[in-house]
Amino acid sequence: MPNYRYLGNSGLKISEITYGNWLTHGSQVENDVATACVRAALDAGITSFDTADVYANTKAEQVLGDALKGERRESLEIFTKVYWPTGPAGPNDSGLSRKHIMESINGSLTRLGTDYVDLYQAHRFDTETPLEETMQAFADVVRQGKALYIGVSEWTADQIRQGHALAKQLGFQLISSQPQYSMLWRVIEDEVVPASEELGVSQIVWSPMAQGVLSGKYLPGQPVPEGSRATDPTGARMIGRFMTDEVLTAVQKLKPVADELELTMAQLSVAWVLQNDNVAAALVGASRPEQVAENVKAAGVVIPVHLMKQIDDALGDVVVR
Ligand code: NDP
Repeated sequence: MPNYRYLGNSGLKISEITYGNWLTHGSQVENDVATACVRAALDAGITSFDTADVYANTKAEQVLGDALKGERRESLEIFTKVYWPTGPAGPNDSGLSRKHIMESINGSLTRLGTDYVDLYQAHRFDTETPLEETMQAFADVVRQGKALYIGVSEWTADQIRQGHALAKQLGFQLISSQPQYSMLWRVIEDEVVPASEELGVSQIVWSPMAQGVLSGKYLPGQPVPEGSRATDPTGARMIGRFMTDEVLTAVQKLKPVADELELTMAQLSVAWVLQNDNVAAALVGASRPEQVAENVKAAGVVIPVHLMKQIDDALGDVVVR
């Protein structure tokens, strides 16, 4: 069972393994498989679910909403996001203007079949809209009860600081940041994490398994496994940055570490991000229910210091910092 961690300086607890449906629901996997994955997540004790209006052009929210239908709402934490256009793009269909935020939240709630989301996240920073306007719109969304908490995604440390300060003035809290973070992608460690620790903001990290690469299933010079993300046209584009012989060779050197801990490599990758105290949750995706059941066993694993060092030595220069 996953443990539950507080999200930032708030009273909201989320499951440290959170289920995410990017590239899967409404896209790579059929709806019955998506539902089976959500069921597997619930059965494994996962209570937090992450999606976005833009995933599969709104279909992912719909599929998740349908899969969660009938579940006790109070036992779930549902997160979604706003920023990108979700269909035919008019001039106001993207970014973080008051108009786009107010219109987007209503569409998300309808598709998710809920009166409120627990966490509403700015999917990216909008350099064109005044931040005051964005944060005022988020304050109003919270006051209207359509979102309980506000977070951001892929904002820099400075942007998080500015957003956090404005939120405080407006009477609400910015409690989370959603960046990419994995053994292979450690960009947040220098600035975002220290700033967040100071402010009481947690990370909910995406692609902790580097989109499946850290499971070790992609072998250098070998054909990619049938049915994997790398065989899906959109997935192949997204995972591409990790699919070099150099990266795939380095990843295979993690196998002895996983073996020593009696974990699969997939579990090791999820456990690794959870060693960071500023990480409230690893956002893990799945194309099959068996993956969910496997990945959730990463909860509660402690990786000793000497094995953390062995991981760093194995990956060497392929880590992006
Ligand atoms: P992961 O790194 O967890 O990759 C998940 C994929 O890896 C699965 O879909 C599956 O793909 C494969 N996989 C999962 N478990 C196993 C296993 N045990 N063995 C082998 N392969 C496995 O994360 P995602 O890239 O899916 O991202 C997770 C979530 O993060 C998203 O759903 C979304 O909620 C969020 N996200 C947020 C972004 C943002 O900008 N804020 C951007 C991207 C994601 P397959 O079986 O098809 O190979």
